[in-house]
Amino acid sequence: MKRPFVTQQQLQDIVSRYPTPFHIYDEKGIRENAPRLKAAFSWNPGYREYFAVKATPTPAILKILKEEGCGCDCSSLTELMTADRCGIRGEDIMFSSNNTPAEEFVLADKLGAVINLDDITHVEFLEQTIGHIPEKISCRYNPGGVFTLGETREGFQVMDNPGDAKYGMTRAQIAQAYQMLREKGAKEFGIHAFLASNTLSNSYYPSLARILFQLAVELKEETGCHITFINLSGGIGIPYLPDQPENDIAVIGEGVRQAYEEILVPAGMGDVALCTELGRFMLAPYGHLVTTAVHEKHIYKEYIGVDACACNLMRPAMYGSYHHITVMGKEDAPCDHKYDVAGSLCENNDKFAVDRMLPKIDAGDLLVIHDTGAHGFSMGYNYNGKLRSAELLLREDGSVDLIRRAETPDDYFSTVVW
Ligand SMILES: *Cc1c(COP(=O)(O)O)cnc(C)c1O
Repeated sequence: MKRPFVTQQQLQDIVSRYPTPFHIYDEKGIRENAPRLKAAFSWNPGYREYFAVKATPTPAILKILKEEGCGCDCSSLTELMTADRCGIRGEDIMFSSNNTPAEEFVLADKLGAVINLDDITHVEFLEQTIGHIPEKISCRYNPGGVFTLGETREGFQVMDNPGDAKYGMTRAQIAQAYQMLREKGAKEFGIHAFLASNTLSNSYYPSLARILFQLAVELKEETGCHITFINLSGGIGIPYLPDQPENDIAVIGEGVRQAYEEILVPAGMGDVALCTELGRFMLAPYGHLVTTAVHEKHIYKEYIGVDACACNLMRPAMYGSYHHITVMGKEDAPCDHKYDVAGSLCENNDKFAVDRMLPKIDAGDLLVIHDTGAHGFSMGYNYNGKLRSAELLLREDGSVDLIRRAETPDDYFSTVVW
């Protein structure tokens, strides 16, 4: 059963100050979750989480995570600028981008970020762009083919298609890139890979770790390069559906530890630091999109029109993703109405829910759309002239801070040359 982290009373107070729609984040939830991840990897002395900024590029959130000991994983110019303005610099930034523009490498280098190269051609591109090769550098690996996890838990299987993904280097290329980088002055090497997204399996990270640890041992033998860090990147999922099993981060950390002991330690590589670039796992459950029911429409189906739209949360429209909905004040009412919950875009995929069984919804009801803390606000856009919403932070003491104001028409028109 999914319960909102705000009560109806709290929301009514909030709505009287900040009109819907808005995203609201739960500081307490974020601060309770981050240490669980840290504890799961505490056996690895160099371990560090670099929060994937693209998931929630909101400075107030990045500052909370910084206080919890996280760095930032950036992949664009403005993400680098955001980290910098939050006081996150140097090796606290992992720069994992792809198809990278020159100006981004320049800023990443200026900030002292650890650069993770997506392609072998980027070795020379980086050298030409910034005039040198950093001493500490990483390369992204793509094993190709199809990635599957043998284990099926609760009927859920992980399968992804690295062979169709645009990221990373082939096995032959990564060895060659290491050699080129070493000749150009690199001294400390890292490996990165991201093979599956939103995995609900405790064996994704351990399986990925085995692949990367084995690769590290081979690359050390083949190239003699000193590998000091391995980046498991993102991909740990969260249960968007109310009956899905949660990942157990402690079990995941233990699975990675076993792979480390079996593969890296015997190869004399027991000093390799691990890092992660989780976005969804760190933030998704700790954000809600709050919206008001405005209209109901009865045609061939029953529709509830709300004041949010896909511009506020793109995942249902883009991926058909399920996001749980709570009708505030009706948490225990029977779900005996079948609705499509729709926004107002001139796009028929602008629906937060299709054929969803919910309590009877009346105009004015507040709806909480769950698990929008990551890849929610950040994927927003301005189609149909829709404006980006505000972001609010529910503090641990129950107070609420505005951490990003809603856009106004002036913001929308500010780039126009009339
Ligand atoms: C998107 C992304 C992440 C974060 O992914 P999650 O699924 O949110 O954990 C991490 N690293 C890279 C390079 C990414 O592109």
